[in-house]
Amino acid sequence: MSAITIAVDGPAASGKSTVGHRLAEALDYLYFDTGVMYRAVAWAALESGIPIEDEEQVTALAQRLDIDIEPPQEDDGRQYTVLADDVDITWEIREPAVNRAVSPVSAYGGVREALVAQQREIGAEGAVVMVGRDIGTVVLPDADLKVYLDASLEERARRRHREAKQRGATSTLEEEIVAIRRRDEIDSSREVAPLAQADDAFYLDTTDLDIDEVVQRILEALPAGARDVDDGCC
Ligand code: C5P
Repeated sequence: MSAITIAVDGPAASGKSTVGHRLAEALDYLYFDTGVMYRAVAWAALESGIPIEDEEQVTALAQRLDIDIEPPQEDDGRQYTVLADDVDITWEIREPAVNRAVSPVSAYGGVREALVAQQREIGAEGAVVMVGRDIGTVVLPDADLKVYLDASLEERARRRHREAKQRGATSTLEEEIVAIRRRDEIDSSREVAPLAQADDAFYLDTTDLDIDEVVQRILEALPAGARDVDDGCC
């Protein structure tokens, strides 16, 4: 099997992380969730008291912050361990304050420039499933397979609500709907690298599909030569 690059994009809670992780496992590829990098910058800005609306300071922070994504070091449901300047922030970056700050932070051109450069280096190695908003359009426009995952706003909010409840958070479904709608709006309307489906992307609406079905359909869409995989399914 020849190693390829797979780009997975889509709005918040469309299933990108779970699907991307499962695909990478089936193919024995690296799974790389680029949203983590934007979240790490947002977290670090909040932590160090930098106002989120201060583009210059947030950009300087993105340029100097050392973000490392490593194999999981704790058995607490995490897919990976995220370190910012050697501090484990794996769960902190999922807090509501970071959810609110991350879309404004990721709209800054300088922040994107700093992080996209690192993402491209990882993509250049091949054998990667990279997940985000602009992977097929900007980060890896030559990816061998581009997937765009979508789902209705209500279904995505239900998924986020379920995950948050499992972690002990107390937000309501209505609050999740409002938060996701706001992020969708900012991510889709920003000037630099907005959330968009690449022209040559494989579009999948996951509203009524379970994870196994989504993974199976993507495996079936793999280019010839990369299809010889153990998907653990059926
Ligand atoms: O995927 P996740 O919800 O963790 O992403 C958090 C935020 O990071 C998104 O709402 C978006 O604002 C930003 N992001 C981005 N480009 C990416 C990945 C994430 O702008 N490639």
